[in-house]
Amino acid sequence: MAERTPWSLSGALRGMFAKRTIDQETWDDLETALITGDFGIDVTDEIVADLRAKVARYNTTDPKDLQRMLRETLEERFSKLDSTLKLTERPAIVLVVGVNGVGKTTTIGKFAKFLANYNRSVVVGAADTFRAAAVEQVATWAERAGAHIVRPQQEGQDPASVAFQTVEYAKRNNIEIAIIDTAGRLQTKGGLMDELTKIRRVIEKQAPVSEVLLVLDATTGQNGLLQAEAFIEHAGVTGLVLTKLDGSAKAGFVLAVQERTGIPIKLIGQGEGINDLTGFTPHVFVQNLIG
Ligand code: GDP
Repeated sequence: MAERTPWSLSGALRGMFAKRTIDQETWDDLETALITGDFGIDVTDEIVADLRAKVARYNTTDPKDLQRMLRETLEERFSKLDSTLKLTERPAIVLVVGVNGVGKTTTIGKFAKFLANYNRSVVVGAADTFRAAAVEQVATWAERAGAHIVRPQQEGQDPASVAFQTVEYAKRNNIEIAIIDTAGRLQTKGGLMDELTKIRRVIEKQAPVSEVLLVLDATTGQNGLLQAEAFIEHAGVTGLVLTKLDGSAKAGFVLAVQERTGIPIKLIGQGEGINDLTGFTPHVFVQNLIG
């Protein structure tokens, strides 16, 4: 796991926690580690001040106590929002949105496999009908995951009608979860948001939408967030999926994404393979972060 969590601070913190006592150097090292991890000056200051107060309150000089307190403080911040997926409706309908290139198609395949591993039946609706290649790509991933697939019947079919047929297919075949792919072309933002609104309206005539997952490339930092703003404003996003956490992503950004958008992270992608997607569990994330 260690080599696949480049955002981990455990290397930077190891020396600090191995020392005999907490001293000024400890605080300096902690500050440097958090700033290097992209937590930003303000959050770093808050965390350090909080820990200094705790260390004083418990009257300890043991770096092991500081390690535990750091874990608690971070876990508290990372778990402010509820990161559990809400998939209790039958069928549970999950719309997946995001800008092209962030890893949306791969995420849908991995998510279908993730659910299949829990013995949940899945149908994937290829409602990004604008690009024929997108339909084929998502179909390949769905097949690999052992999921059903609903494709457009003709090129350029209205995405909302593919979404409609996907939900119908799920109902008819008693499939538990319908994952619907959507377009991610950014050039025609207005058109895309109208398209997403229509998909939603059409689906909601049949059944409620359980989750709208926005896929974000964690290595793009602030830029990725700016690009995603339109989705957050218009698409009723209920959860975030952070992809490419095996890349150059920083843990501080992961926290910032949640705190800035007010939307919980629900899934994280850490590789290109079909099994490289997990739920976001703050406890596990912080464990990997601190070591
Ligand atoms: P889409 O245009 O948003 O549908 O993006 P794709 O799913 O086609 O992914 C774009 C690229 O990102 C592909 O090369 C994927 O293999 C890669 N990718 C997706 N998720 C991850 C991830 O979690 N880690 C890494 N390293 N690469 C990823």
